[in-house]
Amino acid sequence: MIKFNYKQKRESYIMKMSKLFVQTLREYPSDAEVISHKMLVRAGFIRKLTSGVYNYLPLMWRVLKKIENIVREEMDRAGAQELLMPFVQPKELWEESGRWEVYGKELMRLKDRHNREMCLGPTHEEIITAIARDGLKSYKQLPVNLYQIQSKFRDEVRPRFGLLRGREFIMKDAYSFDMTQEGLEKEYENMAQAYTRIFKRCGLNTKMVQSDSGAIGGSVSHEFMVITDTDAGENDVFYCDSCDYSANSNHAISKLPDAKIVGDYTKAEIVDTPETHSIEELCGFLNIPATLIVKTLVYIIDKKPVLALIRGDKAVEETKLMNAFGGTDIRIATAGEIEEMMGVNGFEAEKGFIGPNGLKEYNGYPITVIADETVKDMKNFVIGINQKDKHGVGYNWGADVKLPETIADIRLVEAGELCPQCGKPLKVTRGIEVGNIFQLGTKYSAPMNAVYTDIDGKTKPYIMGCYGIGISRTAAAAVEAHYDEHGIKWPLAIAPYHAIVIPVSTKDELQMKVANDIYETLKKHGVEVVIDDRDERAGVKFKDADLIGFPYRITVGKSITEGLVEFKVRENGETSNIKPEEAAEIVVTAVHELK
Ligand code: ATP
Ligand code: MG
Repeated sequence: MIKFNYKQKRESYIMKMSKLFVQTLREYPSDAEVISHKMLVRAGFIRKLTSGVYNYLPLMWRVLKKIENIVREEMDRAGAQELLMPFVQPKELWEESGRWEVYGKELMRLKDRHNREMCLGPTHEEIITAIARDGLKSYKQLPVNLYQIQSKFRDEVRPRFGLLRGREFIMKDAYSFDMTQEGLEKEYENMAQAYTRIFKRCGLNTKMVQSDSGAIGGSVSHEFMVITDTDAGENDVFYCDSCDYSANSNHAISKLPDAKIVGDYTKAEIVDTPETHSIEELCGFLNIPATLIVKTLVYIIDKKPVLALIRGDKAVEETKLMNAFGGTDIRIATAGEIEEMMGVNGFEAEKGFIGPNGLKEYNGYPITVIADETVKDMKNFVIGINQKDKHGVGYNWGADVKLPETIADIRLVEAGELCPQCGKPLKVTRGIEVGNIFQLGTKYSAPMNAVYTDIDGKTKPYIMGCYGIGISRTAAAAVEAHYDEHGIKWPLAIAPYHAIVIPVSTKDELQMKVANDIYETLKKHGVEVVIDDRDERAGVKFKDADLIGFPYRITVGKSITEGLVEFKVRENGETSNIKPEEAAEIVVTAVHELK
């Protein structure tokens, strides 16, 4: 037999609660609005450094590394290759793609000592496209999917909700390069499947929903949403129980139930409608349903004036309107701006009386009018005519007011409207976007001249896709989906530790011995376990264990004299008195089943 010096392996886990770097707080932080922010601060996972920027303390870092590893395993399994790109990016590449101008204030710009302009990476399309351009010259090298896991910086207008919307956050971003649209679609599907596996392994229920592709561009995109009933869900998700339709509110479409859209006024005339500033007031005054009114809303899109016309009972979805116009920044016009616009165009009217007739320019730009599809079949309708306390009634398109050239779906869907696929009523729920996938096409490769030589000898731009997962947001979303009034209930796969062993009295020799035995056994079998060796009351230890969210708790107390420990499952709160080896076996089995 070969003899060698076997050195004890270095302990990989902090054994003792007394040494664990964690300060739990008695109270929730006062600046936190949502569950995950409150809990992660109070349980000692994160500390704010400055607005939207957090320290990930040891417990948090363990969670993040676990999510990262699941992401890594599934991305590698799906055939993607990991690399790491710099956090600081030069302006020149952003000029090549055309985004230096359009990205807006979320892009954190800075200058180096030579006055060269740079930015902190909010995303990496430009950099990866430049890498591909240098390295992928021939069709023989394609397709390729490259990804990284890295910090991003976005100077968000409203950093809030802790890790859910930070300014600095951790993202996995992947980019695929194909030769054909079919190739891209295949990889898109491959990524959709990888994402489904990733979130499932993280213990999260997600819905894959159709979405708008926003600043990143491209046409087809989907988001992965953690469905939550907490305030943290920033997105409305419309879905159908009868078929598989689901979409983010900025992309959802619906069929409308029948409504009265032909009015009783048979002739166009101007009537007095004093003090009718809202649709409700106008409906009340004229005694008509809102479906007979064409509502006019004034928006400013990238500094330009845009009027949106929509049926009176419906609301405008701003992202849809912005896309119909082709802009990047949208807001509703202020009362002051509306007043000024009227003045410029020679009217005296205010909110509630605006209409498209006679409005020509504002801010040096011509006024664009965009109509929602709901208005085009309306007849004998009521509409603002830019005269205070008056409306046009019995108006029709063509004769009395020009039907705008741009007619688009700019309508916000509401629950109860009908599914565009199967006609059943749609439902709405709130969700947190943890990941998304985009078909970019040649949006970056064409302007950046990122091309390969095809089999026919011609150079062609890559057909690209991009695929993001918010690693730090996923951790916070997991808390939003798994908590109770006592604290976090981490899914086993991403919990900072799998289990805690609590001897009720550290002075009791038998309790300490059994607790240590269980601890050693668990550790030997690959369980990440903490032993609470503090000389504290049992109540304090239980509170901390619940707050931090250990999935399993094994308490060694008085009943150990009868050979029993208390075993508690955090997720469902179930407790049972069982033998120490049974408790250990349950935990070891659960941990092994994770892999
Ligand atoms: P959102 O609409 O929530 O701002 P986004 O569309 O800007 O997200 P992407 O640019 O596609 O998001 O980024 C990919 C992923 O990064 C998102 O799905 C999300 O999980 C995460 N993410 C984006 N912005 C933030 C942020 N400010 N804080 C934490 N995670 C973020
Ligand atoms: Mg964003």
